[in-house]
Amino acid sequence: MSTQVLQSEQTREIVSYDPGTGAELGRVPLASPEEVAQAVRRARAAQPAWAGISFKEKGRVILKARAIMLSQIEELATLISRETGKPVSEAISMEVVPTLDAMHYFANHTASLLKPQKIDIGQYGLMGRSSRIVYKPMGVVGIISPWNFPLGTPAEEIVMALMSGNAVVLKPSELTPLTALKIGEIFRRAALPEGLLEIVTGDGSTGAALIDARVDKIMFTGSVSTGKRVAEAAAKHLTPVVLELGGKGPMVVLEDANLENAARGAVWGAFANSGQACASVERCYVHESIAPQFLARVLAGTQALRQQVGTKEDTDVGAMTNERQLRIVEEHVADAVERGAKLVTGGKRAGNLSGFFYPPTVLTNVDHRMTIMRDETFGPVLPVMTFKTEDEAILLANDSVFGLTASVWTKDIARGRRLAERIEAGTVMVNEVLYTHGIAQTPWGGIKESGYGRTHGRMGLLELVTSRHIHVNRMSFLPDVWWFRYDPEASSLFQGLATHFTTGSIVRTARLLPRVVRRLLQRGK
Ligand code: NAD
Repeated sequence: MSTQVLQSEQTREIVSYDPGTGAELGRVPLASPEEVAQAVRRARAAQPAWAGISFKEKGRVILKARAIMLSQIEELATLISRETGKPVSEAISMEVVPTLDAMHYFANHTASLLKPQKIDIGQYGLMGRSSRIVYKPMGVVGIISPWNFPLGTPAEEIVMALMSGNAVVLKPSELTPLTALKIGEIFRRAALPEGLLEIVTGDGSTGAALIDARVDKIMFTGSVSTGKRVAEAAAKHLTPVVLELGGKGPMVVLEDANLENAARGAVWGAFANSGQACASVERCYVHESIAPQFLARVLAGTQALRQQVGTKEDTDVGAMTNERQLRIVEEHVADAVERGAKLVTGGKRAGNLSGFFYPPTVLTNVDHRMTIMRDETFGPVLPVMTFKTEDEAILLANDSVFGLTASVWTKDIARGRRLAERIEAGTVMVNEVLYTHGIAQTPWGGIKESGYGRTHGRMGLLELVTSRHIHVNRMSFLPDVWWFRYDPEASSLFQGLATHFTTGSIVRTARLLPRVVRRLLQRGK
């Protein structure tokens, strides 16, 4: 078996395997372009009625799905664990809990987050005019998701899209289709009206078909290279896209950091989910004065981790989800070692485990010529480098094409905030790592090649609606002064608008009033 998923040409099926044991978990159809188009048509037909019901009624369905999910927590987390290789406990803490929290938050708060916004238009207000923004659903949202968080990533986006009045067609990763089907089952049991959540299982061709079926928005999470293809394909239909792509998260440990916690944070941030998180710590920069103490703690923490199949209760680190990713990790480590990096621990596939296990690995003597410091590794490797000054640390952190997440570690919070603002990333944490995707209220997304657009929080909801500007003139009996006809009197008034009105001063604008009245009276004749 070379990959976790086999595809049979005859049956057009994909097969899901447990990467920890190699056991087959199930088979699902590989949807054809016509089947994808049908799913989009069903979603489009179901959406207007759903958009027409209140936020409260929509929230009721989401909360019902939440209750069902909560009642199946063990079963769901075990399925995620078996399909991805991650520990069951991590499936709960990093996927089920944030999903339940997002369900609760968006079910209860979308109405206020998307309530119409009044816009202050300054002096126009004096003339009886007002503006507001109202938000309307996009229509059908296509979600294309990866395998590393097969519940959390799509389910939270589904909840946001549904709560803002859309229908959804989900194309999950070919490596984790069973978790996606489970999401569908939960919403079905919650009596979500038919057609509002369609799930099309398949591979990249199925994702491409979803874009070609002309959905109204694409929420894509995945690699930079696929993201570029998705943006290109979507551009043909002018379909707006949110791209949540890869990362190369830097962690900057200043000399005044709480060493013990920084080391624990580095170990969790680098090895949770076997390092297969877009927000994983992939580069660690430590002030040279504390490097030996920090490394000793990191080494002790790493060597204490238990690696075994994810379904065992005391597993810290499970298998990687697929062999292709494991090979990339091996290549990055080999390149680093060849260029002079030192393996402090790990670095070789565990001989006693038959699945896709790669041991938590720590490297020192690394530099930015090495692939391990430039490309996304997406595996359990922590390369550690030292720095002398703050400026050098910032230069190193920003020396990347990625800009998703980063962290700064210091007891001086003002200093932490100051440095955080200098790091080029969508999210910079001070004394924290990795986890803010788990917060429903805060925006998530990258800059540079980590993508564009946001998910989560109000910014995430705004990606799933169109904004409509409604402008009202209450003084419908008066013509505007800038309307026809133009004459010397009009010219003089327009000059006055330029010199007085555009200053923003109410007093100066008031001086125009006699000329305004004169023009209105003249036109009344
Ligand atoms: P991937 O790009 O290979 O696949 C992602 C999804 O796109 C899958 O469902 C795949 O079937 C589909 N796809 C493939 N080709 C397609 C095409 N031509 N058109 C449409 N869809 C297509 O990524 P992956 O290996 O599944 O996931 C790992 C990547 O995801 C990593 O780079 C990781 O950093 C990134 N990621 C980013 C975030 C984030 O929030 N920024 C979160 C999780 C993962």
